[in-house]
Order: sequence, then structure tokens, then C-alpha cells
Amino acid sequence: MPSPTSDQTHLSRRALLACGAASVSTLGLSAPAKARVAAGANIDYVYEVTKSDAEWRAQLSEREYEILREGYTEGQRTGTLWEEKREGSYHCKGCELKVFDGRWKTFVEGKGWVFFIHPEPASVMTNIDGPTPEYGAMGTGKTPLTEIHCRRCGCHLGHYLLVEGKMTHCINGTSLTFQPASA
Ligand SMILES: [Zn+2]
Repeated sequence: MPSPTSDQTHLSRRALLACGAASVSTLGLSAPAKARVAAGANIDYVYEVTKSDAEWRAQLSEREYEILREGYTEGQRTGTLWEEKREGSYHCKGCELKVFDGRWKTFVEGKGWVFFIHPEPASVMTNIDGPTPEYGAMGTGKTPLTEIHCRRCGCHLGHYLLVEGKMTHCINGTSLTFQPASA
């Protein structure tokens, strides 16, 4: 399991605690997007967009690769788009599939990730993150997290968490590109 390159650019597993601290106390952002539809499943899922590791590395920056392909979580406020308030659509940086619409974006004070109430229909899939043998149960909890990835290319987007009483998609801005609505 690779390590994050920098504490500034990545919160490793532990740090997502801040995202849903009130209700989620377990982290385990293991590689979520490697052709498994669920942890422990022995059924390989073939994504519509598949690329070799070399192709992903050529397409993505090192930081993007670690988040989109290895499942790391960006540091609070280190990504882009968490402050974006314009109307528009949010697309997977791996394959440009529209995964969220700005009308479902919600701002969670003091967090610094990108939050949505709903994804676009048939745009994301889920996986189970941790506890893992490598990282164990973080904090006091032993509850796995629901990981979210793009259904077309498998790139890691974020997690589905209980945030301030609502089930919310907590997404890395690094995983998204934004297209403002045309005037
Ligand atoms: Zn994608």
C-alpha cells in the first residue's frame, strides 16, 4: 500500500474523521476502485472505461493518481471546488462522466470537501472501505465506510457519510472537473 506523499496534500485514512466526525469514526480508504464492486466480492466488474496503469499515470498528476486510483483523501481545503457556488455540473476527472449536478451541492461549514446530497442517476457505484487488515479499525469505531467511485471508469470520488444528520456524498474536489452552466 503506497503512502501519501505529503501531509499537506493528503489526509491519509485517519484524517477523514473530520469529514463526518459526529457519526463516522472508522477509516480505511484502501484502494477502492480496482475492479471490485464490493469488498470481499470475488466478482470482477469490468468498467466501461479501462486504462492501463501507465495510461492513468500519464493522464493524471501524481496527486490525482493517488486520490482517483488509490483511494486517498485530499486534505481539507486543499482540493478545488469546495467553495464553488455557480450553477453547473461536476464530472469525473478520470473519464468526464457527469457525476453530480450543482443543484444538489451543499456547503458544510468548516469542512473543505465537496458535498452533494444526490449523484446523477447511474453515475456512481459504491464499495466498502475498511476496517482493513493493514490499518485496523481507526478511532473507536469498527464500522466500514461506504466508498463512492465512478461507475464508468472506477475512479475514486469520495465517501457517502452521515454529515450533520444527512447522508451526504463527501467528495474530493481533486476527483472532479466543473463545467459552469452556459449563460
Ligand atoms: Zn469516471
